[in-house]
Amino acid sequence: MPAKIAIIGGGAAAVAMCLRLYENIREASEVSNNPYVAEICVFEKNNTIGPGVPYSTPYDCHLLNFPKKIMTAVYDSNYLTNGFYGTDSGAENQTNLFNSYLHTNYPPRHLYGEYLESRAEQIQNEAIKFGVTLEFRRNTEVIDVKSLDEENFLIEAKAENYTANYVVLCTGNMPSTNFREFIGKEGFWQKPFYSEEDAKNFDPKKIVVIIGSRTSAIDTALYLFSEKHAQEKVIMVSRSGLLPVLCPQKFVNYQLKYMPEYIEAAGTSISLDALISLFWKEISDAEGYNIDYSSIVKSYEDITALHWLDRQIKEAEMETPNPSSYIIAEVFLLFPKIWQALNKSDQEAFLKSYYGLFMTYASHIPLQFARKLRELIQDDRLSVRGGVESITTDTAGTFIVRFEDGTSLSTSQLINATGCGYDIDSVPLYKSMRQRGLIAAHRLGGIDVNPQTFCVVNKDGIESASIVLGDTS
Ligand SMILES: Cc1cc2nc3c(=O)[nH]c(=O)nc-3n(C[C@H](O)[C@H](O)[C@H](O)COP(=O)(O)OP(=O)(O)OC[C@H]3O[C@@H](n4cnc5c(N)ncnc54)[C@H](O)[C@@H]3O)c2cc1C
Repeated sequence: MPAKIAIIGGGAAAVAMCLRLYENIREASEVSNNPYVAEICVFEKNNTIGPGVPYSTPYDCHLLNFPKKIMTAVYDSNYLTNGFYGTDSGAENQTNLFNSYLHTNYPPRHLYGEYLESRAEQIQNEAIKFGVTLEFRRNTEVIDVKSLDEENFLIEAKAENYTANYVVLCTGNMPSTNFREFIGKEGFWQKPFYSEEDAKNFDPKKIVVIIGSRTSAIDTALYLFSEKHAQEKVIMVSRSGLLPVLCPQKFVNYQLKYMPEYIEAAGTSISLDALISLFWKEISDAEGYNIDYSSIVKSYEDITALHWLDRQIKEAEMETPNPSSYIIAEVFLLFPKIWQALNKSDQEAFLKSYYGLFMTYASHIPLQFARKLRELIQDDRLSVRGGVESITTDTAGTFIVRFEDGTSLSTSQLINATGCGYDIDSVPLYKSMRQRGLIAAHRLGGIDVNPQTFCVVNKDGIESASIVLGDTS
């Protein structure tokens, strides 16, 4: 009997999983000189395999936030810069599409979506030669997963069922649970705008408040302006009021001097305080002067959005790599290792005191975005305000945003662009799996997994044959 693997969700993580599975199966077959027969079935609720949520937006205003030369489905030689891999009749159109973005390092995200789609098609064609059947079930939303016995799961979709020995959960980000008290209220949108469908019922002649000032909020603001949905002012509001930093124009491979040695020596018990002081030591060393928490920009109180953009754009235009940015990029890569070695209270302290600020410096926007945002702010069509204290509605249903300085603003249109959520019960599939004891919630949010294997840990603490990948993990 072939091993049967069900992959739920057909985005970037699913494509990466298919590529790795296929590679491993091919190698095993070659070593043993005996084809390893397997059946992989990918279930995707939308009609394309590959782009998932981030790369399905068709709009040219939604750009990649990493340069195309580092965008790849898995670490192999087939990066986005090398073009597409599909072999179907659309190959010529794909080549034309690819060539139309040769001039830019930060092409629209849909280009990477097309690349992922072509890689999915490529593996499907190659896998069959090695006895691996790779089936893509599009427009098929999985509504439940049940355990039939120790070796089999039942995957339930609306119109069909499937049994599998292994289940891989790749359903992407969970929905935000912030401001869920407004869901269903007129003039409130619970997620950022990526399509005409999302912008349904939006009134371009009224001002709009976007909650958030990081990448999802910027995506939404630029979409509203580029698709002419916003004729009135757009106001982005958040607690910090800080926009993200700019994507580095050059990528520098920097060798951290202090943190790796400490992490290695500390083994499974890393101290957050020790780590943070080494982090500042790394940054101070690279910048050539003393920097610590008190000396960096932390919120709207330290700098206006316009000055922040001016400063960042100037640095980027001079093509001077900012040493802090490449240190943060290196630290980001160490995170999975660090996270597992922090004790529970240090993990909680990090999330409470540092995570938001770290992400402001670790998430990037391309230079084109920054220039556009600066122009919109200078023309008074966009503003960014920090210090949000609360958001409520009055009796007429108008949204009232109150700020720390005692001021407030009202709006009849409010968009939540604060990022993803972590409550597994907000996804019906996971709520049902949790209720049946197949998965459990992690105390800090998301599905509980063994961080070494990514296998689901069920309610009894036992690892199962389900794996969680991508944004879901
Ligand atoms: C807006 C945005 C922009 C980003 N931009 C970049 C970038 O420029 N560069 C970069 O390196 N990273 C970027 N990222 C991060 C990275 O691309 C994502 O982390 C990655 O795409 C996540 O892949 P995924 O497969 O986990 O989720 P997704 O790509 O979201 O795929 C999940 C898929 O599962 C499907 N699905 C969900 N539930 C079900 C169900 N019950 N049944 C069947 N199908 C289901 C969905 O339809 C979707 O297609 C971005 C992330 C976001 C959110």
